[in-house]
Amino acid sequence: MNVPISTFLQHLKFTPFTVCSIFVLIVCHDPIESLHMRKPDTIERLYLDFDGFFAAVEETARPALRGKPIGVIPFEHTTATMVIAANRKAKLKGVKTGVSVTDARRLCPDIALVPQSPDLYERAHRRLLLSVERVIPIDAVCSIDELTCRLDKGDIRDPHGLGQRIKARIREDVGDYLTCSIGMAPNRQLAKIAADMDKPDGLTILRPEELPGRLLTLPLEDIPGIGGRIKTRLIDAGIWTMEALWKTQPKQLRAIWGNVTGERLWYALHGYEVQALPTSRAMFGHGRVLPPEWRDFTHAFEAARLLTIKAARRLRRGKYLANTFGLWLMMKEDNWHGERRLGEANDDHAGLTALTTLWQIARRDLPSRSRIVQVHVAFYDLKPSDARQLDLLEQDDAVRRKWEKLSEAADAINSKYAKTVLSVGPWTPPPGGYAGGKIAFSRVPDMEDFW
Ligand SMILES: [Mg+2]
Repeated sequence: MNVPISTFLQHLKFTPFTVCSIFVLIVCHDPIESLHMRKPDTIERLYLDFDGFFAAVEETARPALRGKPIGVIPFEHTTATMVIAANRKAKLKGVKTGVSVTDARRLCPDIALVPQSPDLYERAHRRLLLSVERVIPIDAVCSIDELTCRLDKGDIRDPHGLGQRIKARIREDVGDYLTCSIGMAPNRQLAKIAADMDKPDGLTILRPEELPGRLLTLPLEDIPGIGGRIKTRLIDAGIWTMEALWKTQPKQLRAIWGNVTGERLWYALHGYEVQALPTSRAMFGHGRVLPPEWRDFTHAFEAARLLTIKAARRLRRGKYLANTFGLWLMMKEDNWHGERRLGEANDDHAGLTALTTLWQIARRDLPSRSRIVQVHVAFYDLKPSDARQLDLLEQDDAVRRKWEKLSEAADAINSKYAKTVLSVGPWTPPPGGYAGGKIAFSRVPDMEDFW
């Protein structure tokens, strides 16, 4: 336990094409129209969330930073950016994720502002997964610093023992700077909420018989999925508190959300196991933190377009077809998400058409002066491309084949020249470099992602 840092660094072998993974989103995404559910009578899920992950990795890897308040920032040499992770010392001074660089310096004059090191975080991520797996199998990796596990009978009998064993393993493997908060509950959503209740280094167990219990002490915005606009809609509907939210009916939340997500949240809060976790190959997605001068709708769309084309290329390389395309926009105070049915497609045109439609909806939904800090796109509801079912009601197959042929031809040429020679529409990467390599959804990027 005294020499874990060197052990940690030994495992962080740099490979030139592992640059990836900053903001990782919802990999555990499973859009379902009809809800399949069950009400577990005990805790079944564990959720683990590393505390101030990026800052903790920086502290672990760079001894010179230890003991200082640290804020990780996306870009150097600009004040028009914000802190994307802070360690405990910085948090105690009020520097939280999303605080501007100017405010961070004002709140905490001795803060060390460190530009992000995506490759380092990715290597730390993989190293930490190994540590957790030495104690309990990982069921799903939800983001670069969050994962879930299923509890077996022994774990359910002694959840505290399990939590302590995981924490001890991580300490021994990588040192004292990388701590995690663990939640256990009847379902994944409640386990995540439990993990958030006691940070850092917490261990919280929410048993089904105790519900709603401690949930009622939370502010609405502590519930994952209740952000800016949804919170406004809840307040408009007279739902100000967790107690009021608890007393709603499933259909009422469905109406407030405008889709099945609200209903799903209701069942999750009430202790139901709502959705099956997707397989490890759940989606092909890309995301990017936009540089300050690219945060208007016009530039952000350009970035989204490139990310879509790159994700579609990976989808084809992986020999998958996708049924759904999703777009996520993250602003400072609000997030926006929309999805479109594709009908078993993997060509650029299908993705770009879905993106364009979603973009129009987002522009209608959001204030015109919105500043889009991050853009993420993903193809999901996957099916191996050799398992296609022709759905003649859904698509004009001849047209679809034409677009597929075009995408395949572009892939062949780009592959031959090892860069982007041919693409649908202009290819203008945003300042700061490659569209695809900066952020990824819990996966090891392929070399082609860096064209
Ligand atoms: Mg975290």
